[in-house]
Amino acid sequence: MRYISTRDASLSVTAAEAITRGISAEGGLFVPETIPELTMDELCTLAGKSYNHRAKFVLSRFLTDFSEEELAACVDSAYTDEKFDTDHISEISKVGENAYLLELWHGPTCVFKDMALQLLPHLLTASAKKIAPDKEIVVLVATSGDTGKAALEGFRDVPGTRMLVFYPENGVSAMQKLQMTTQEGENVSVCAIKGNFDDAQSGVKKIFTDPEIIKELAENGQMFSSANSINWGRLVPQIVYYVSAYVTLMETGEIIPGEEVNVVVPTGNFGNILAAYYAKKMGVPFGTLIYASNQNNVLTDFIDAGIYDRNREFFATASPSMDILISSNLERLLFDLSGHNDEAVREWFAALAEDGEYEVDDEIKEMLNEGFYGGYCDDEDTLDVIGRTFRKYSYVCDTHTGVAVKVYEDYLEATGDERKTIIASTASPYKFNDSVLAAVSSEEIPADSFDQAEKLRALTGLPMPRSLSDLKGKPVRFTASISREDMVEAVKKMLK
Ligand SMILES: *Cc1c(COP(=O)(O)O)cnc(C)c1O
Repeated sequence: MRYISTRDASLSVTAAEAITRGISAEGGLFVPETIPELTMDELCTLAGKSYNHRAKFVLSRFLTDFSEEELAACVDSAYTDEKFDTDHISEISKVGENAYLLELWHGPTCVFKDMALQLLPHLLTASAKKIAPDKEIVVLVATSGDTGKAALEGFRDVPGTRMLVFYPENGVSAMQKLQMTTQEGENVSVCAIKGNFDDAQSGVKKIFTDPEIIKELAENGQMFSSANSINWGRLVPQIVYYVSAYVTLMETGEIIPGEEVNVVVPTGNFGNILAAYYAKKMGVPFGTLIYASNQNNVLTDFIDAGIYDRNREFFATASPSMDILISSNLERLLFDLSGHNDEAVREWFAALAEDGEYEVDDEIKEMLNEGFYGGYCDDEDTLDVIGRTFRKYSYVCDTHTGVAVKVYEDYLEATGDERKTIIASTASPYKFNDSVLAAVSSEEIPADSFDQAEKLRALTGLPMPRSLSDLKGKPVRFTASISREDMVEAVKKMLK
């Protein structure tokens, strides 16, 4: 299996190269040349098997330059009893008639990003060993809150790697900030920037392709890679849990083999929903792919009009990990829908960089509307649905998942499509205590995050994850806050 770039389809590299480099030199994203197929028979053989077994099976289709032993070592180091609080790695909770919440937050930092970021460091170091032995891998991360912590936890003290995380100073929850600023590990560092996530992401993308810095790195025996979902090594582990969820629903008799299931995903950078798209393309019988946005509804407008327009007000919402106006992974979808038209992709993304806007042609609009449904909701509706879900089912979900549940309700109402539906539950409610507490309780909200958490626990009975309660009183290590113009300097300083 070879990987090509969305902005230069003639460029062809191995999976190890795609993962090590993170992003292609001309700014494109790596994608598999073809999507491997999974038959229904193969899906059925995965029933009764462990998550790790399923992961090895799916990954072996994409990462063909890895040996079976290499993949097994990566997977078995990532998904362990110590790091995940359930043997199943992810859990499924039935909430309502046809809805299944796929809980992807049972890992060490309580967010779905652990599913990929526990595996990525292993894939990355194994990849680098193949194509650039002896080089130190420098990983830069832009985070809207959750990626940063999950990446730090995945990479801390991994030999041969170094990491710097940038987060928007006022764009993350109190718990998210504490998770990052107290991070342990000799090889990792964290820095706040005065700006929003898009500023952090475009700053990091620019540094990745800055020839001067790349040269400096090469002289130091170092090279850049990415832990954001622009890296293929982030996306491929996410395909696994969609395959696995379908198999689990079959195994438990909730669905019959071949039955079509819809998928709802709360969306920011379009990575998680794209993984569901790839799973469907492999042959998992998924119906409509429903992506849910918060008030930063650039993707909802896009599916309606075919025009992607980031020139709009940016809202800081109760679901901060989705406060994004440039959804990087949409590029991969458009490349796929356009039949690998790298020229069109180059034009669209040049227009996006220059004017903040592009429009796709009618054919692509049609394909988008056939396979996808996009919706959004504001904070008020998000908190309202979290409250209603809790009162009705005694089930408490976080704000991002709340956005997905609300858009699912809207979808049901608009279409009457009653097929069984998987809703990606992306974070533990305890990462967003204040909002979740406000949604389920009418009492006054205490100011302190841990008091909020205790109240939430008393009210809902949901145990607080150890990794979050352990943050109390932990010393803060990282206090730097810089303007976005100074990101280059911060990177240079870290490299020394
Ligand atoms: C990152 C994140 C999302 C958005 O996922 P994308 O892959 O960027 O679309 C949704 N929910 C939570 C809790 C997140 O951390």
